[in-house]
Amino acid sequence: MKKEILEQVDKGLMLPLMEEFYTIQGEGYHKGTAAYFVRIGGCDVGCHWCDVKESWNADLHPPTETSRIVENASKYSDTVVVTGGEPLTWDMTELTKQLKSKGLQVHIETSGAYKLTGQWDWICLSPKKLKLPTAEVYSKANELKVIVYNKSDFKFAEEQAAKVNKDCILYLQPEWSKREKVIPEIVEYVMNDPKWKVSLQTHKYLNIP
Ligand code: SF4
Repeated sequence: MKKEILEQVDKGLMLPLMEEFYTIQGEGYHKGTAAYFVRIGGCDVGCHWCDVKESWNADLHPPTETSRIVENASKYSDTVVVTGGEPLTWDMTELTKQLKSKGLQVHIETSGAYKLTGQWDWICLSPKKLKLPTAEVYSKANELKVIVYNKSDFKFAEEQAAKVNKDCILYLQPEWSKREKVIPEIVEYVMNDPKWKVSLQTHKYLNIP
């Protein structure tokens, strides 16, 4: 990649954009709400069950002017969800500054593995065992979303819940390919310990992106 482009990416003035689309937020607290999704490429966390492995290699996704991403987003929705990949691989300061200047609500979905940059109206923290979140993101997360792939994830969920702030909403979400097995386990778990709520990937049931 050209040096000038790399410099722009370093400053957050360009970002490796994988895709952007207007849809309905399927998961967590804002499920059912229309939002514009901006999927930024690049992630080295390496979850074996990841359903967006195409996002991992940032080099496959063209560096795109941040201002262009903002311009597109503002045409569709007053809520923008920045996801990935792992968006905090990059400096989110410029993207969120520009989105906020348009009066948009700005949400992030992150593993929290890297320094928290940007100004967010809603932080969905979905921690991963392979690269744990930073202390700052635990203190600022609005929702904790733990993906349940097998039984050991309940123990991980409790460890993560002990680290977040007291207002953070706690969700257990079945990993899609294991949903038939783990949904009954999650249901039983939440009934026994109602500080947790169930989150489902409702967009997959609705057959939308
Ligand atoms: S953190 Fe997210 S994008 Fe990265 S590997 Fe895990 S599930 Fe995939």
